[in-house]
Amino acid sequence: MDARETQRPVWRSFDPRWVGNAAAHARAGGLAVVTARAAFALVAPGPEGELAELAVWALLDLRAGDLEPVDAGEAEGLLRVRLTPGQCAQCLAWAERDAALPGHTVGVDFACLDCAMCCRNNRVVLEDEDFARWAAAEPAVSPGRVHTRRGVRTLAVLKNGDCQHLRGNRCDIYAQRPNNCRAFPMGSEGCLAAREEAGLAMFTV
Ligand code: SF4
Ligand code: SF4
Repeated sequence: MDARETQRPVWRSFDPRWVGNAAAHARAGGLAVVTARAAFALVAPGPEGELAELAVWALLDLRAGDLEPVDAGEAEGLLRVRLTPGQCAQCLAWAERDAALPGHTVGVDFACLDCAMCCRNNRVVLEDEDFARWAAAEPAVSPGRVHTRRGVRTLAVLKNGDCQHLRGNRCDIYAQRPNNCRAFPMGSEGCLAAREEAGLAMFTV
């Protein structure tokens, strides 16, 4: 869980004839899907070549392939990722969800304590650093039940899918929560999907 106001990229879809508009949307912080026969998405890198955190998470959720720099044309300077038909369909669904939003980005400021959906039906992978932190804590923290499969350790969940550390909507090891929980950003596509599944609002504007 996380709780801070942030801007997330708005998804828009564009016909290939309007690549210039798609590029302008991406340069302004949005994410653009271009529905050419070989569909692709455009994203703008920051001044150091870095991507905005929520753009990275959107691409992770898509299981997108490698980003390629665009070195000519209206999208020059942007990064492009080719999309499979399934990935394109997902981007179009996100664009449809965002269709009523004005602008290129939108502020999100969800109250995580009224939600906690990312602590339900989730799979929290544990890292060596988590175990080291728990062992060094005063008093030491117990991770509870841990599953190990093919060398990957995860927090066991309750029968109802809740994380074993969830108490109401609070985490009982919040100050010592695993790295995976710390990294999960409010406003990511995973966050929005979890909220949608629970019937919670996906926009705070
Ligand atoms: S799903 Fe999103 S809003 Fe809900 S608790 Fe997790 S990060 Fe917060
Ligand atoms: S450890 Fe805490 S923050 Fe992580 S999923 Fe469980 S309840 Fe949520």
